[in-house]
Amino acid sequence: MGRYTGPACKLCRREGQKLFLKGERCFMAKCAIEQGRPVPGMHHSRRTKQSDYAVQLREKQRLRRMYGLMEGPFRRTFEKAARRRGVTGEILLQMLEMRLDNIVYRLGFAASRRAARQFVRHGHIELNGRRLTIPSASVRAGDVVSVVDKKDVRAVVAPVMEAAQSRGISPWLVLSPNEFRGEVKHVPSRDEIAPIVNEQLIVELYSK
Ligand code: SF4
Repeated sequence: MGRYTGPACKLCRREGQKLFLKGERCFMAKCAIEQGRPVPGMHHSRRTKQSDYAVQLREKQRLRRMYGLMEGPFRRTFEKAARRRGVTGEILLQMLEMRLDNIVYRLGFAASRRAARQFVRHGHIELNGRRLTIPSASVRAGDVVSVVDKKDVRAVVAPVMEAAQSRGISPWLVLSPNEFRGEVKHVPSRDEIAPIVNEQLIVELYSK
Protein backbone atom coordinates (compact mmCIF):
# COMPACT_ATOMS: atom_id res chain seq x y z
CA MET A 1 0.00 0.00 0.00
CA GLY A 2 1.34 3.44 -0.89
CA ARG A 3 2.18 5.99 1.71
CA TYR A 4 3.59 9.49 1.83
CA THR A 5 7.31 9.41 2.55
CA GLY A 6 8.16 13.09 2.08
CA PRO A 7 8.79 15.66 4.80
CA ALA A 8 6.00 15.70 7.37
CA CYS A 9 6.38 19.32 8.44
CA LYS A 10 5.83 20.44 4.86
CA LEU A 11 2.31 19.02 5.06
CA CYS A 12 1.56 21.06 8.19
CA ARG A 13 2.99 24.16 6.58
CA ARG A 14 0.78 23.56 3.54
CA GLU A 15 -2.30 23.21 5.72
CA GLY A 16 -1.24 26.12 7.94
CA GLN A 17 -1.71 24.20 11.15
CA LYS A 18 -0.25 21.45 13.28
CA LEU A 19 -1.17 17.96 12.12
CA PHE A 20 1.01 16.31 14.80
CA LEU A 21 2.87 14.05 12.41
CA LYS A 22 6.24 13.87 14.14
CA GLY A 23 5.72 12.91 17.75
CA GLU A 24 7.58 14.84 20.46
CA ARG A 25 8.93 17.42 18.05
CA CYS A 26 5.37 18.66 17.49
CA PHE A 27 5.27 19.86 21.10
CA MET A 28 8.60 21.66 20.93
CA ALA A 29 9.62 25.15 19.86
CA LYS A 30 11.36 23.75 16.77
CA CYS A 31 8.01 22.76 15.24
CA ALA A 32 7.76 24.52 11.87
CA ILE A 33 4.31 25.91 12.69
CA GLU A 34 5.50 27.25 16.06
CA GLN A 35 8.32 28.95 14.19
CA GLY A 36 5.83 30.49 11.79
CA ARG A 37 7.45 29.00 8.71
CA PRO A 38 5.51 29.87 5.53
CA VAL A 39 3.43 27.78 3.16
CA PRO A 40 5.77 25.82 0.87
CA GLY A 41 6.16 26.97 -2.72
CA MET A 42 7.16 30.26 -4.28
CA HIS A 43 3.80 31.82 -5.01
CA HIS A 44 1.84 31.46 -1.82
CA SER A 45 1.82 35.20 -1.15
CA ARG A 46 0.11 35.87 -4.49
CA ARG A 47 -2.89 33.69 -3.74
CA THR A 48 -6.22 35.45 -4.00
CA LYS A 49 -9.62 34.45 -2.64
CA GLN A 50 -10.14 30.70 -2.76
CA SER A 51 -13.00 29.08 -4.66
CA ASP A 52 -15.51 26.86 -2.82
CA TYR A 53 -13.86 23.84 -4.41
CA ALA A 54 -10.42 24.91 -3.19
CA VAL A 55 -11.73 25.34 0.37
CA GLN A 56 -13.39 21.89 0.30
CA LEU A 57 -10.27 20.31 -1.14
CA ARG A 58 -8.09 21.83 1.59
CA GLU A 59 -10.39 20.49 4.31
CA LYS A 60 -10.21 17.01 2.81
CA GLN A 61 -6.43 17.14 2.40
CA ARG A 62 -6.00 18.35 5.98
CA LEU A 63 -8.02 15.50 7.45
CA ARG A 64 -6.51 12.89 5.16
CA ARG A 65 -2.99 13.99 5.93
CA MET A 66 -3.60 14.14 9.64
CA TYR A 67 -4.57 10.46 9.64
CA GLY A 68 -1.80 9.63 7.17
CA LEU A 69 -4.02 8.10 4.48
CA MET A 70 -3.50 8.18 0.73
CA GLU A 71 -6.39 9.33 -1.44
CA GLY A 72 -7.64 5.81 -2.30
CA PRO A 73 -8.06 4.47 1.25
CA PHE A 74 -9.45 7.82 2.42
CA ARG A 75 -12.03 7.86 -0.34
CA ARG A 76 -13.02 4.25 0.38
CA THR A 77 -13.46 5.14 4.06
CA PHE A 78 -15.70 8.00 3.00
CA GLU A 79 -17.76 5.73 0.76
CA LYS A 80 -18.25 3.25 3.61
CA ALA A 81 -19.29 6.13 5.87
CA ALA A 82 -21.77 7.34 3.25
CA ARG A 83 -23.40 3.90 3.12
CA ARG A 84 -24.02 3.87 6.87
CA ARG A 85 -27.09 5.31 8.44
CA GLY A 86 -26.49 8.68 10.14
CA VAL A 87 -24.56 11.87 9.53
CA THR A 88 -21.89 10.96 6.96
CA GLY A 89 -19.31 13.53 8.10
CA GLU A 90 -19.48 12.43 11.73
CA ILE A 91 -19.36 8.74 10.78
CA LEU A 92 -16.28 9.43 8.65
CA LEU A 93 -14.54 11.04 11.63
CA GLN A 94 -15.54 8.13 13.85
CA MET A 95 -14.28 5.56 11.36
CA LEU A 96 -10.92 7.32 11.15
CA GLU A 97 -10.69 7.52 14.94
CA MET A 98 -11.50 3.85 15.37
CA ARG A 99 -8.68 2.64 13.13
CA LEU A 100 -6.25 0.48 15.06
CA ASP A 101 -3.24 2.70 14.27
CA ASN A 102 -5.11 5.76 15.54
CA ILE A 103 -6.10 4.02 18.79
CA VAL A 104 -2.47 2.94 19.33
CA TYR A 105 -1.46 6.59 18.87
CA ARG A 106 -4.25 7.95 21.08
CA LEU A 107 -3.33 5.55 23.87
CA GLY A 108 0.23 6.84 23.73
CA PHE A 109 1.83 3.56 22.63
CA ALA A 110 3.44 5.43 19.73
CA ALA A 111 4.49 9.05 19.32
CA SER A 112 2.70 9.63 16.02
CA ARG A 113 0.18 7.89 13.78
CA ARG A 114 2.98 7.07 11.38
CA ALA A 115 4.95 5.39 14.18
CA ALA A 116 1.78 3.64 15.35
CA ARG A 117 1.24 2.17 11.91
CA GLN A 118 4.75 0.79 11.82
CA PHE A 119 4.32 -0.57 15.34
CA VAL A 120 1.20 -2.45 14.31
CA ARG A 121 2.79 -3.75 11.12
CA HIS A 122 5.77 -5.06 13.05
CA GLY A 123 3.49 -7.16 15.23
CA HIS A 124 3.90 -5.24 18.48
CA ILE A 125 0.18 -4.73 19.07
CA GLU A 126 -2.59 -7.07 20.18
CA LEU A 127 -6.31 -6.60 19.80
CA ASN A 128 -8.28 -8.49 22.44
CA GLY A 129 -5.22 -10.57 23.24
CA ARG A 130 -4.41 -11.57 19.65
CA ARG A 131 -1.65 -10.07 17.56
CA LEU A 132 -3.00 -7.97 14.71
CA THR A 133 -0.80 -6.44 12.01
CA ILE A 134 -3.41 -4.48 10.06
CA PRO A 135 -3.20 -0.74 10.89
CA SER A 136 -6.52 0.01 9.20
CA ALA A 137 -8.43 -2.62 11.23
CA SER A 138 -11.56 -1.25 12.86
CA VAL A 139 -11.63 -1.29 16.64
CA ARG A 140 -14.98 -1.54 18.37
CA ALA A 141 -16.35 -0.26 21.67
CA GLY A 142 -15.24 -2.60 24.45
CA ASP A 143 -12.14 -3.81 22.57
CA VAL A 144 -8.82 -3.99 24.36
CA VAL A 145 -5.64 -2.86 22.61
CA SER A 146 -2.33 -3.83 24.21
CA VAL A 147 1.40 -3.88 23.60
CA VAL A 148 2.87 -7.36 23.24
CA ASP A 149 4.46 -8.74 26.37
CA LYS A 150 8.05 -8.27 25.23
CA LYS A 151 10.56 -6.46 27.41
CA ASP A 152 12.37 -4.62 24.62
CA VAL A 153 9.13 -3.44 22.99
CA ARG A 154 7.64 -2.23 26.27
CA ALA A 155 10.90 -0.45 27.13
CA VAL A 156 10.48 1.60 23.96
CA VAL A 157 6.80 2.28 24.62
CA ALA A 158 7.11 3.29 28.31
CA PRO A 159 8.62 6.80 27.88
CA VAL A 160 6.35 7.57 24.91
CA MET A 161 3.31 6.53 26.95
CA GLU A 162 4.45 8.63 29.90
CA ALA A 163 4.74 11.72 27.70
CA ALA A 164 1.29 11.08 26.20
CA GLN A 165 -0.21 10.61 29.65
CA SER A 166 1.18 13.92 30.82
CA ARG A 167 -0.66 15.58 27.92
CA GLY A 168 -3.86 13.64 28.63
CA ILE A 169 -5.50 10.58 27.11
CA SER A 170 -8.78 10.93 25.19
CA PRO A 171 -11.77 10.57 27.54
CA TRP A 172 -13.29 7.75 25.49
CA LEU A 173 -10.26 5.55 26.13
CA VAL A 174 -9.16 3.94 29.40
CA LEU A 175 -5.43 3.41 29.68
CA SER A 176 -3.94 0.92 32.15
CA PRO A 177 -0.30 1.97 31.88
CA ASN A 178 1.12 -0.76 34.13
CA GLU A 179 -0.38 -3.45 31.91
CA PHE A 180 0.41 -1.59 28.68
CA ARG A 181 -3.19 -1.91 27.64
CA GLY A 182 -6.11 0.33 26.88
CA GLU A 183 -9.83 -0.14 26.43
CA VAL A 184 -12.16 1.66 24.09
CA LYS A 185 -15.08 2.79 26.27
CA HIS A 186 -17.25 3.90 23.41
CA VAL A 187 -17.14 5.28 19.88
CA PRO A 188 -16.24 8.97 20.31
CA SER A 189 -18.76 11.66 19.55
CA ARG A 190 -17.87 14.55 17.27
CA ASP A 191 -17.25 16.76 20.32
CA GLU A 192 -14.86 14.20 21.78
CA ILE A 193 -12.96 13.98 18.52
CA ALA A 194 -12.81 17.80 18.25
CA PRO A 195 -11.99 17.66 14.52
CA ILE A 196 -9.62 20.19 12.99
CA VAL A 197 -11.80 20.42 9.89
CA ASN A 198 -15.35 21.16 8.85
CA GLU A 199 -16.17 17.63 7.73
CA GLN A 200 -19.35 18.79 6.00
CA LEU A 201 -17.17 20.42 3.34
CA ILE A 202 -15.57 17.04 2.66
CA VAL A 203 -19.00 15.49 2.23
CA GLU A 204 -19.86 18.25 -0.25
CA LEU A 205 -16.61 17.71 -2.14
CA TYR A 206 -17.14 14.00 -2.57
CA SER A 207 -20.83 14.39 -3.37
CA LYS A 208 -20.16 16.39 -6.55
FE1 SF4 B 1 3.70 19.45 11.99
FE2 SF4 B 1 4.86 18.23 14.02
FE3 SF4 B 1 6.34 19.24 12.02
FE4 SF4 B 1 5.12 20.83 13.79
S1 SF4 B 1 6.78 19.39 14.20
S2 SF4 B 1 5.15 21.12 11.61
S3 SF4 B 1 3.18 19.70 14.13
S4 SF4 B 1 4.85 17.57 11.89
